[in-house]
Amino acid sequence: MRDSHGRLITDLRVSITDRCNYKCVYCRTGQHGAQYAELSAADYLRSIQIFLSLGIEKVRLTGGEPLLRRDLPQMVASIRAMRTRSGASPEVAVTTNGHLLEGLAEPLKKAGLSRVTISMDAVDPATFERITRIPGSFENVVRGIEAAQHAGLDPVKINCVLLRGFNDEQVEAFADFARARSVVVRFIEFMPLEEDRLWTPQMVVPLTEIVERIGRVHRLVPLSATVAGETARRYGFADGASGEIGIIAPVTQAFCGACSRVRLTSDGKIRTCLFSHREHDLAEMARKGASDDELRAFILGVIQTKEARHHIGEPGFLKPSRSMVHIGG
Ligand code: SAM
Repeated sequence: MRDSHGRLITDLRVSITDRCNYKCVYCRTGQHGAQYAELSAADYLRSIQIFLSLGIEKVRLTGGEPLLRRDLPQMVASIRAMRTRSGASPEVAVTTNGHLLEGLAEPLKKAGLSRVTISMDAVDPATFERITRIPGSFENVVRGIEAAQHAGLDPVKINCVLLRGFNDEQVEAFADFARARSVVVRFIEFMPLEEDRLWTPQMVVPLTEIVERIGRVHRLVPLSATVAGETARRYGFADGASGEIGIIAPVTQAFCGACSRVRLTSDGKIRTCLFSHREHDLAEMARKGASDDELRAFILGVIQTKEARHHIGEPGFLKPSRSMVHIGG
């Protein structure tokens, strides 16, 4: 499946709920709950099967908080039992805040989960809880990381969004955390996708600064991309310590030219970019009785409308029609 800019679309991100048990300050206001419907597992699975038949190879389940869905392990197992166009079992990953992972890491691994990414925006408990606005969340997430490693969901990836003046002093401590815990810590630049209107270019902590600051405490060596379309710049530690640093810089070093993603929202709408203003209602077509072939033709048409790039920071930039928690990050 290629878009009109020649990009091969191989990654599908499916939001399976837009409910969340955290109220991260840079994501949600905390005043609203879910805003969009959730579909049945069977509905998501049918869409995923159709996307796989068109060339998707990796499926990431996200939200909202995907671990809030009790049927998550069964969904993972059902996706792993599907086949890509080349006849392989698709990779299935989950992005989670980790709050419920302690009890779910083992069942998810048994269900066939390939990888887990855990969001964690500070290694200092007080700063962490100022961000999530949930008391006790830090200890829960650390236990979730340990459970994921214990279950063999290695290497565990940690996503950290840095906000200038809020948690950017955590950069060096995160590098120590990566080394001590043998995890991949990936810093993600803050994007204008929050429910509130917090974002300013000055709040973004750029890739260059992160690399320079970590480099002052631990010498870094650049690592090559593991897959085509890799969004993270990867660095190892020159002294051979375990752990890895990744930086995802959609704002200061956009990678739209290599974008291989398409998204499905919790209510079954296709989004071709995080920053899209248009959505395409696949679930509605399915509800009206469209056949698999009709849904395939619809998806192929939608992929042709995938935006060339985002316009963050440019004059006239308009925030997208939904915020991150309601798109699926
Ligand atoms: N609840 C899950 C979690 O916390 O990972 C999955 C959904 S969350 C929306 C997915 C990812 O998006 C998280 O890593 C979060 O930090 C990131 N995110 C949310 N808002 C963001 C923003 N405005 N800019 C960059 N990343 C953001």
